[in-house]
Amino acid sequence: MSKQKNMLIGEMLVEEGIITKEQLKDALEDQKRTGEKIGQVLIRMGYISKEILWTFLGYQMGVPYINLDEIPDIKQDMLRLLPEQLMRSEKLIPVNKQGKVLTVAMTDPLNFLVVDDLKATTRCEVDARLSPEEDIVKMINKYLGFKEADTGEIAKSRVDALDDILAAPIKSRQEEPGLTITRSPYGGDVKKREEPPPPPPAYSEPAPRAEPAYAPPPPPPPPVREPEPQHTAQAVMAQDTPVNTFLTTLLAEAYDSNATDIHVEPLSDKCRIRKRLDGTLYELESPPKTLYNGMLNKIKELAQMNTAEKNTPQESKLKIRVSGREINMSVYTFPTLFGEKIVLRIVRAENTIILLANTGMEESVLEAYKKVLKQPHGLILIAGPTNSGKATTMYSSLNEINTPAVNIFSVEDTSVNYLLPGINQTKVSRKSFGQAIRMLGEQDCDVLAVSDMAGKETAEAAFDTIAGGHLVISNIRAGDPFQALQTIINFGIEPYVVYSNTSAVLAQRLVRKICGKCRQQYEAPDDIVKMLGGAANKVTLYKGAGCDACSRTGYSGRTAVYELIPMSEKIREMLLAGDSLKKIRDENKKSAGLSTLKESALMKAIQGTTTIEEYMKI
Ligand SMILES: [Zn+2]
Repeated sequence: MSKQKNMLIGEMLVEEGIITKEQLKDALEDQKRTGEKIGQVLIRMGYISKEILWTFLGYQMGVPYINLDEIPDIKQDMLRLLPEQLMRSEKLIPVNKQGKVLTVAMTDPLNFLVVDDLKATTRCEVDARLSPEEDIVKMINKYLGFKEADTGEIAKSRVDALDDILAAPIKSRQEEPGLTITRSPYGGDVKKREEPPPPPPAYSEPAPRAEPAYAPPPPPPPPVREPEPQHTAQAVMAQDTPVNTFLTTLLAEAYDSNATDIHVEPLSDKCRIRKRLDGTLYELESPPKTLYNGMLNKIKELAQMNTAEKNTPQESKLKIRVSGREINMSVYTFPTLFGEKIVLRIVRAENTIILLANTGMEESVLEAYKKVLKQPHGLILIAGPTNSGKATTMYSSLNEINTPAVNIFSVEDTSVNYLLPGINQTKVSRKSFGQAIRMLGEQDCDVLAVSDMAGKETAEAAFDTIAGGHLVISNIRAGDPFQALQTIINFGIEPYVVYSNTSAVLAQRLVRKICGKCRQQYEAPDDIVKMLGGAANKVTLYKGAGCDACSRTGYSGRTAVYELIPMSEKIREMLLAGDSLKKIRDENKKSAGLSTLKESALMKAIQGTTTIEEYMKI
């Protein structure tokens, strides 16, 4: 099954007996010469017809294909059921109506938002069918008139769309765009819940093809990606259900402003909407309170949550397309006094690995940390609370040492969204970290990365790996370097074992960066000067005045501040002797020239990278 999911479309056509192995081989040979997509080659060589290809794709999607060439004339009153603009922008056309069931040919029949709107507009059940964009557009033009402006795009989109379908391996088609809504339950450490059954399909006819040898995979994305998809949200909004309009706008704006979370909270007097931007929640304009129930139900329905269950927290995943943006979200609901609170966490796939030098590390930290990374064994801890940028530092670190000569394994939970070519990433639940680490220890592994020092079993397995002569880099939830070490000791590991095996602890926090477009200088007030030690009587600080570029927040993006403690013999002795943290930090400064988290943040405030307010939060 999973093998089949990974197969290219050509191989699937062979598997299904639609073409022979030889024909595929011919086509692949030809493809090498022409560089065309395999499906195009197959059609050109006459091995498959367009209809076969689309029937097959429809079967793949779980949505029947409808051949528009075989549709008798569409009556004008049926065409009037849907707004022309919607038909043109979403590339769909109603083709038949029987009783309360309206059959609609769509390029994107899995776009549930649109299907929902069709239902609401027509008050019919919608029987969504798959049809190629070119056929639908031809049909629209035949009945509603030809639109000059469309031609170039349509011709291009037809090629692009087909290219996308034919080029994409089935697996990536399933994970990637096009599919407006997908949902998968959390694996891993999140408590398993009953999977709700899939919603009843709007259509009931069986796929037109014979029963295949294997069960149909879950619906992959619709085959046609809109090359100019800016119409999507407009079309949804054109349906002018207030809930859709509000949600679409909210999502698009939050996504574009780089927000990470959207909170929708029912309060006694209003529905509060907040978004988290660079770690801070900002309140947005409240919608009318009457919209709340509609929004809650819409979100739960889209995320395929149990709409009837209101007293238990639920979580799900949702992929949605809004104005050409493909937004992946985790959706959470929590019961509160005035109703269910909704949190939409935007998962951005484009987590790019940044160089260590660009993480915000001061020169002195960078130099010392690179030295630690070069050591062949020992434990490096990256410590910080949740949302302190540990994962970014971890992947920047791995990137630093990632060469073909080094075999890196990474044990991570499902929340990690980084991909680093050349390293072996294993996704398991936190509970299984220990087990996974022990298994990988038997592999030919030089460096082991662990996304969270999750407990005693993980720590023990990590120390065993180190004893085997390997380097282990692990994130740990702890406020500072000493808490990080103490956390492991508290798991029940001997302090001596912890101190002697650890080669360095790197603690970190994120601070917001002042927006470069509206940064201003100001003279620090007396109390701040005093707080800073009063060494100088004049201190220049910086802040953002707020501009359009930073949504009036005065901040744009975040950077990390670090405190690195390389474990010298002297520091190990001091830790074992139970010396005060201040003494140990003084020693670290004296011997390695390294600052504390607070000092590092202050430096960034004085330099004008961040504000004194951000410093004070450390
Ligand atoms: Zn600004």
